[in-house]
Amino acid sequence: MQPIHRKICLLGDFAVGKTSLVRRYVEGSFDDRYLSTIGVKVSRKVLTRQQHQLHLIIWDLAGGEEFSGQDRNYLRGAAGALLVCDLTRPETFPILSAYARQLVELNPGAAVVVAGNKLDLVGDVPAAVAGVEAICRELACSFLLTSAKTGENVEETIDLLADRLIPDGTLG
Ligand code: GDP
Ligand code: MG
Repeated sequence: MQPIHRKICLLGDFAVGKTSLVRRYVEGSFDDRYLSTIGVKVSRKVLTRQQHQLHLIIWDLAGGEEFSGQDRNYLRGAAGALLVCDLTRPETFPILSAYARQLVELNPGAAVVVAGNKLDLVGDVPAAVAGVEAICRELACSFLLTSAKTGENVEETIDLLADRLIPDGTLG
């Protein structure tokens, strides 16, 4: 079967853990230092999902240079996005709706999965997720809890997004 190439974007507020999630997923490591990157960092990962060979092209913006809606080239051609918020900072939740809207406006039918990240720092999980669950229900997208630090759920989350990028994907 022909390999499938799909672009996905990482979207979310400053310091929610986008770069750390990509790094954990692609390299299997975590770094407590701030990961500064310049411009857009593109990582690749090849995976097999539902008998398809899927080449994921993962776009991540530089630290400190969050996507603001101005740079549509960042989103253009994306088949999906991982929307990331920081469970310890509820102020990072509302922006996810705006990102989802911009993504789908440019790429109708794009897949969206939300990651509530930094699960390792959360004591009271139900209280921490209350605000973001409502947003995900409104967006009708899946919501998973992740930790780039421990690696918990990181692969599952991106695999779930990957399944939605495959033609006639029936999963999820
Ligand atoms: P970005 O701006 O969204 O790309 O965020 P970064 O990936 O650069 O992470 C911002 C800060 O949060 C860094 O100091 C990371 O080490 C830290 N961080 C990211 N993910 C996690 C996580 O799951 N748990 C913890 N404890 N810290 C995290
Ligand atoms: Mg970053």
